[in-house]
Amino acid sequence: MNKTKSLLKSVFGYDSFISLQESIIENVLAKKDSLAVMPTGGGKSLCYQIPALIFKGMTVVVSPLISLMKDQVEQLVQTGVAAVYLNSSLPSDEYHRNTVRVKEKAVKLLYLAPETLLKANIIEMLSSVQVDCFAIDEAHCISQWGHDFRPEYRQLAKIRSGFPESVCIALTATATPRVRLDIKSNLGIDSSGEFVAGFDRENLFVQVVPKKDPLNQTVQFIQKFPNQSGIIYCFSRRQVDDLNTYLTRLGYSIKPYHAGLSESERNQNQEMFIRDDVQIIVATIAFGMGIDKENIRFVLHYDLPQTIESYYQEIGRSGRDGLRSDCLLLFAYGDIQKIKYFINKKEGQEKRVASIHLNSLLRFAETDECRRIPLINHFGEKYSKNNCGMCDNCLADAKTKIDITIYAQKFLSCVKRTGEIFGAIHIIDVLRGSEGKKVFNFGHQHLSTYGIGTDFSKRQWVHLSRQFINKELLVQDTEFGGLKLTEKAWAVLKGKETVMGRVEKEEKKYVVKKIVDPDYDHNLFEILRKKRKELADLSKVPPYIVFSDKTLVEMAARYPQNRNDFMDIHGVGIAKYENYGRIFLDIIQSYCSQHQIELPAESMPEEDLSAYRAPKKLRHIVIGDAFNSGISIREIMEEYNIKIDTVLNHLYRYLQEGRPLKSKGILSLSSLSDKENAIALELFDSLGTEHLGPVFRELNGRIGYDDLKILRLHYMINNQL
Ligand code: ADP
Ligand code: ZN
Repeated sequence: MNKTKSLLKSVFGYDSFISLQESIIENVLAKKDSLAVMPTGGGKSLCYQIPALIFKGMTVVVSPLISLMKDQVEQLVQTGVAAVYLNSSLPSDEYHRNTVRVKEKAVKLLYLAPETLLKANIIEMLSSVQVDCFAIDEAHCISQWGHDFRPEYRQLAKIRSGFPESVCIALTATATPRVRLDIKSNLGIDSSGEFVAGFDRENLFVQVVPKKDPLNQTVQFIQKFPNQSGIIYCFSRRQVDDLNTYLTRLGYSIKPYHAGLSESERNQNQEMFIRDDVQIIVATIAFGMGIDKENIRFVLHYDLPQTIESYYQEIGRSGRDGLRSDCLLLFAYGDIQKIKYFINKKEGQEKRVASIHLNSLLRFAETDECRRIPLINHFGEKYSKNNCGMCDNCLADAKTKIDITIYAQKFLSCVKRTGEIFGAIHIIDVLRGSEGKKVFNFGHQHLSTYGIGTDFSKRQWVHLSRQFINKELLVQDTEFGGLKLTEKAWAVLKGKETVMGRVEKEEKKYVVKKIVDPDYDHNLFEILRKKRKELADLSKVPPYIVFSDKTLVEMAARYPQNRNDFMDIHGVGIAKYENYGRIFLDIIQSYCSQHQIELPAESMPEEDLSAYRAPKKLRHIVIGDAFNSGISIREIMEEYNIKIDTVLNHLYRYLQEGRPLKSKGILSLSSLSDKENAIALELFDSLGTEHLGPVFRELNGRIGYDDLKILRLHYMINNQL
């Protein structure tokens, strides 16, 4: 097993196996036929790629999707693995070249479309080389019960039996027992070879909101993801086209995808999306099969999906890199009728299955418990956590409702006094006593509501105003965005009705923002992203094949300065380092010196280590001593005009050099709950304090480096390290 671990790091750049990878790999290496059922993004590919590197002979991978095949081969080549593919899309000279390499036994992995594998000359070729493993991807295509039955898949078993020395691994993301049974009996896999992973995708934030003003809701949602990839799913082609036109007019980088477009147009749009040349795809459900893009950050369901399974698949296309991704469903009762109409056209069993699926979907949409409960239950698993922390309902529970009548009254009367023609932002400016031009132009500084809302920040007021709209105290003019009072608003103003709601906690100024959003240098990330795009275009591959978003995020959080640091970053193996290490290190180093970013003591540029260290030595002692004398971290930040991160680095170094530090006031800097603190602290027990990367990754990036640094200090002080 040591061999597999070291390949995992040196080739793929990962620290540890995830999910069931390790047991599956072990099983395959023991030449036992296996079925791996893991959700999309669950890490299925490594289950045969690592054995392929260990087997003497070749591994044949059968994959039905030509685009995916190309993608995977490109990815492997980038990591330094000899892989090729053969399918009907290849120009004949390349096809020929690839077969020559296979015959010369120069490749470890050969990807094939199922129909290619059935050809006599291919079978002959494979018989002339040693095939150690057949990996059958998207194995649900074997089953008529699956959503994508392909007759050629039925014949794979026969081919396979001509290679008795080889082991077979089937892989799929479809979990239903019926399909699993079919795959196993068709390929002759026994139950001990079956591995089914959990279906919870923890990094997906799941949210359902009533569909009220969908165009606006869409814009508000996608605004949160500038330059980041996302998919919008619609029910009909017309809706796709309308939304595409609307968002294009607003200046969004977006392309449509549906069956009404020509194949070449569809392919072109998909390709642009994959290569980050276009940010958003608005699509009917037809989109997404066969794309392996890792950095999809959001999925918006503009309309209700058809079944809970399709919903799960569609949201599952986001966040394959393990980083947080946001999934929003706009839910309207009217949409149910559309789906029912289609269900009613079906018959018998099919109709029954469809309505069961619809009902599961409704349970999911209407629950006020954790959304993961109905979602996971549908796949025959029980969801046992109390609070997932990654769905709208769980987060809402964390904050209890309070009486916000008085704030509603302030806001509503300000809307009234300004003439019911302004949007929320202007109202908030008046409430907060802004001295902005617009306020003065309208003479709103003379209103009695001017400056009566200074107790809340702008953000808190925006959050409140949204609740007022949701509670139908206000309606928004669709064309100009002005707010108007409703009947209900008058009842509130007259004190006849109370309003219950939530006030958002104001962020503590010096502490990391969101726990779920790993803290990193967004400017540097942008620079690295551009470089990645440039390099990807040069080698004609999608950007995520050069480095995943997760990899860039980690670079932008940790500022690696040398080979060691760089190789410690998620997703960096030897080949990636050799191809790109220098280029990215140069950018990061010059960025650091340009912005005078003080580096943690452990990661100085190799070249001028001594020059760097000498002048700073004093600084961390000064700062450590200051802290010990009772000066707070906040005061230190002001005094020396440095970021919290820098203070933490100095204190860490102070400790590392064996100087004792007081613990007072450190833990309280953490922006996390006690429970989260405890989880992270416990991880230091097993993973050590030397490097934060492993802890960060163990938590899937849910806790940012700033908080981890705080917790590490606390941990070290209390454990006298
Ligand atoms: P699937 O085929 O199951 O949809 P992939 O094999 O494409 O999933 O893996 C999804 C992503 O998960 C990959 O892009 C890779 O970055 C990541 N991944 C896979 N295995 C590991 C691992 N052991 N450690 C960290 N990340 C991993
Ligand atoms: Zn939840």
